[in-house]
Amino acid sequence: MPFSDFHGNAETIYRLRDMLARERFPHAVVLAGGQGSGKYTLALMLAQALNCLTPLKTEGLPDFCGKCANCRRIAQSADLDARFAEAVEARENLRDADKKETRLFVQTHTDVLVIPPDPPQMMIKVDQVRRVIETIYYRPAEGRERVYIFTDSAFMKEAANSLLKVLEEPPEFATIFLLTENPGELLPTIRSRSMVFPLGALPAEEIERYLTEHRPEWKAAERALVARLCEGAVGRARNFDLAAYVAARGHALTILNSALRDRDHTELFKVTESYRPGVEGREKTEQLIRTLYSLLRDLASIEAGAPELARNTDIISELRRLAESADFEWITTACDRLAEVERGMRRNLLRSLSLDAFAASLEKA
Ligand SMILES: [Zn+2]
Repeated sequence: MPFSDFHGNAETIYRLRDMLARERFPHAVVLAGGQGSGKYTLALMLAQALNCLTPLKTEGLPDFCGKCANCRRIAQSADLDARFAEAVEARENLRDADKKETRLFVQTHTDVLVIPPDPPQMMIKVDQVRRVIETIYYRPAEGRERVYIFTDSAFMKEAANSLLKVLEEPPEFATIFLLTENPGELLPTIRSRSMVFPLGALPAEEIERYLTEHRPEWKAAERALVARLCEGAVGRARNFDLAAYVAARGHALTILNSALRDRDHTELFKVTESYRPGVEGREKTEQLIRTLYSLLRDLASIEAGAPELARNTDIISELRRLAESADFEWITTACDRLAEVERGMRRNLLRSLSLDAFAASLEKA
């Protein structure tokens, strides 16, 4: 998978490859962009370019072959979710004493170490950074560059401070990638020692074109809808679970209808009852909340006289009907109340009850 397979953000890609060409690649690179914007894909591509055994040029700039032993082994880390799950399982199978001591890593090539946030807290821990410090000053064994990829910017305090020490004096043959949705989460002292590259959202039309090529099995209308729902992120578009989204949206519409139009709440209770405690219920509720936000945003667009900005284009007439009963004040209140439901979830309040309360509190007098 050479650089031409990366979609969008051409200028950022050009700058990075240009630095490779001038052998001025920075020792610390922050790749900043939303979920699914391609941060991890790009970091792995650069790791391959830095270590390819038969490096080549395309468009006059450094590229990688994708076929040599180094490229192939680095590419084995590409399915991060799968590699992460394997690492978690491997740790689960350890003796209790060792389990505590073991931190999570993904490594499919000697010189490329991927550092995911460590569960259950899902933060980067000091022992993970310690592993970086222990290895980073040794020359690469099979490649030309030692590469470290932190896949998240949620660092425990001590971990961030340890990383800072490495960034103060990195060896010439190592590169550290820090992936983040929000560079503000990183210590300012870490940011100032890194070069920050943003990965911006892609226009819906561009994502639609991408989906035509990569999801030919979807209907054109489905591709158009996903291109608007994925917030400019190719990775989210490609893996978009439209069926799950449509199911959650049905529930979200029932809740909004019940608040704005219906006096009979039988349907509402049927929906909210299906939101159970536990891990599965949590994911389902999170999906519902995201969907409610997306519908409220569309209602606001219609209310503002800009229905063309609505994302749920396939149900626009239903949204127009709902918008007739809503106004800006109601939409603002609904967003605030939804934020309360989110906070309640973090405190583990009973989910179905808080959804009922949400709908009830929004009923028009
Ligand atoms: Zn190669």
